[in-house]
Amino acid sequence: MNKIIYLDAAASYLKPDSVIDAETDFLRHGYANAGRGVCARAAAVDNMVLSARARVARFIGAAPHQIVFTSGATDGLNRVCAMLRGMEKPVVAVSDLDHHSARLPWTLRAAQDGAEIVVMELNKNYDIDISKIPRVDVIVITAMSNVLGRAQNVGAIIAAARTKNPNVISIVDAAQYVVHDEIDVRKWNCDFLCFSGHKIGADTGVGVMYIKNPDDFSPDKFGGGMVKRVTDSDIIFNDAPDKFEAGTLPLTQISGMMPAIDCLVQRRPDLNLVKYMYDELAGISGVKIVTERDAALLTFEVERMHVLDFGALVGAGGVCMRVGNMCASWIHSRLGLNSGSARLSVGAYNTMDDARVAVDVIKRVLK
Ligand code: PLP
Repeated sequence: MNKIIYLDAAASYLKPDSVIDAETDFLRHGYANAGRGVCARAAAVDNMVLSARARVARFIGAAPHQIVFTSGATDGLNRVCAMLRGMEKPVVAVSDLDHHSARLPWTLRAAQDGAEIVVMELNKNYDIDISKIPRVDVIVITAMSNVLGRAQNVGAIIAAARTKNPNVISIVDAAQYVVHDEIDVRKWNCDFLCFSGHKIGADTGVGVMYIKNPDDFSPDKFGGGMVKRVTDSDIIFNDAPDKFEAGTLPLTQISGMMPAIDCLVQRRPDLNLVKYMYDELAGISGVKIVTERDAALLTFEVERMHVLDFGALVGAGGVCMRVGNMCASWIHSRLGLNSGSARLSVGAYNTMDDARVAVDVIKRVLK
């Protein structure tokens, strides 16, 4: 069997056996709905969700009632925008580091005259310029760009925004950052933070939305499991987090969250592989690297070939990598990468041999 070298963890992380086993075991032996039954099986599912929530909370320094399960980072980031619908025409700071998921909900709201967008300045390293944070009502912070792989100083950015407006609402997109470093939401002092399960080794279809003060916000979705009492004239919602989790949760995927987090904190991706590939590809004609050597991933421009052709040829050589605009149009325009870029990213399961094979294949394709 031909082995595929998978170097696309930043798009989606391969799953550890413990995640696959937990989900298989849940589906075979533990399956029932949560929050809707009183039999032992249903109670066990409730306990599984409670444990998973507690594990996620500990993972980011939060309390369990601040953790809402979503279907992913995109869902969470859109929902935060919806939950802030009561703000009248807020001024919202975004940056060119943003993924479409973080910025488009606000771009669209601004297009309907429901918000005003301010694009934060980046410094010469393409980091958010902390000395030039504007006075805004809402600030959207991409903690690590999926193109540049550089950690932003989230705590300092939020602190700077608060000196301009003590009531600013901060929203952190941690979809990439969460893979590479510890997060403590208390230190960052953010109001919202979102990430996806599938990028940390858990399954697709589950994500996390952290809310610092869940009692201050009303639900954005309505349905089963989130109401304490309802009459024709009155609705009393459950307490957080239940009031934000209308409908049946992605239970199977939630059962994989705890083993995924346990695995990730034991072993993060080895970024020496990225450094090795950087050193090998840096001098090659036809490759223009746009990331730093110590970034969490390696992004480059392919000069003599369309990037989609390049990706297909590298794929035919057995190496999976990401090519295109990575749903991050703004940073691509800013860097002049008008036909997209190519990205290599590693998970803890990748080895130096994977990196060597990838470099050989890429050199062969570009020859
Ligand atoms: N934000 C960043 C920085 C990302 O890299 C991604 C996915 O690539 C997302 C948000 C959206 O994540 P998802 O597609 O899992 O919702």
